[in-house]
Amino acid sequence: MLSWQQENWESFTASPENLHHAQIVTAPSGYGLREFCLAMVQYTLCSNIDRERNTWCGECQNCQLFSAGSHPDFHVVCNEVESVQGRVEMIGQYSYRYQDESVREKKAQLKKIIPIDHVRGLIENFMQRPHIASRKVGLIIPADRLNINAANALLKLLEEPPGDSLLILLSSEPSRLPPTVLSRCIQIHLSRPSHEQARTWLEGQTASEDVDLALELTDGAPFKAREICETGLLQTHKELLKGLVGVCQKTTSPYQMSISLNKLDFEEVIKWLQEFVMDVIRWKTTGKIPWWHAGTEQGLMPERFSGEKLFQVYDRLCRYRRIARGSLNEQLALDTIFLSIQQTVR
Ligand SMILES: [Zn+2]
Repeated sequence: MLSWQQENWESFTASPENLHHAQIVTAPSGYGLREFCLAMVQYTLCSNIDRERNTWCGECQNCQLFSAGSHPDFHVVCNEVESVQGRVEMIGQYSYRYQDESVREKKAQLKKIIPIDHVRGLIENFMQRPHIASRKVGLIIPADRLNINAANALLKLLEEPPGDSLLILLSSEPSRLPPTVLSRCIQIHLSRPSHEQARTWLEGQTASEDVDLALELTDGAPFKAREICETGLLQTHKELLKGLVGVCQKTTSPYQMSISLNKLDFEEVIKWLQEFVMDVIRWKTTGKIPWWHAGTEQGLMPERFSGEKLFQVYDRLCRYRRIARGSLNEQLALDTIFLSIQQTVR
């Protein structure tokens, strides 16, 4: 168990006999949400709980089948992105009960939405008794990507649950879920790690020397920090910041910047840009110098930015983030953003 999730774990395991049939587990992404949910699954399936250590045994038939990726009573409903690009291999492995196998070969345009037929399949399976465990366990991931019909179909399962089942909904953005779904689940909000907890964990996970910087860039989210250390994204982010300073100083063209970023995840880039703009706003209003300003050339001073325009850019970024899942032309959006960032400087 991750050190910062200890308290959440204790309350989840406090009375296994009275486990509510539907639980929604939430945390911003990168804090070990998937890991916690999988621990809930294994704990619920295990037939020989280790009471002293408050964990599953790891040895019973249920534990073994679960770890082998072939437990018949564990059901994963997820979108194509999670099946193919998800960070936890086991979730992908289990997802093909409902997912079309051909998705594995798909190179682009993986769907983010969970369609209704997957939920219908899950309901059908949940109506049968468990095969070997004492409960069937379903994991919906990410639950906020259920389309509206799928969410409505799920209501049926939430309202009339079979007695021997546990449904776990995972979500980093629970506000996107219909209130009718939310109100029928017990909510578990996972705790965030302290800086020390995150740092200690991350040092055990990566050889990177930029552990503190990675945590700074990911708002202290250990799993995201590990990802950017391991995938070279940390370097990309450093270059993005250098480029942004260049855009503000008019030494880098906005168009050049947006072209260089078009291979990255759009929502991630928008999030980084929001942080950058917020850093400048904070700099202008409170005098707090952004960490990335060290080492950049002189000449970029807070008074040269127009506060009004900075807020306009920030609002635009918020809007893009909201509609990012629709039919936004991402390249065009990036062109516009970099141009408007440049225009914030007088
Ligand atoms: Zn076990």
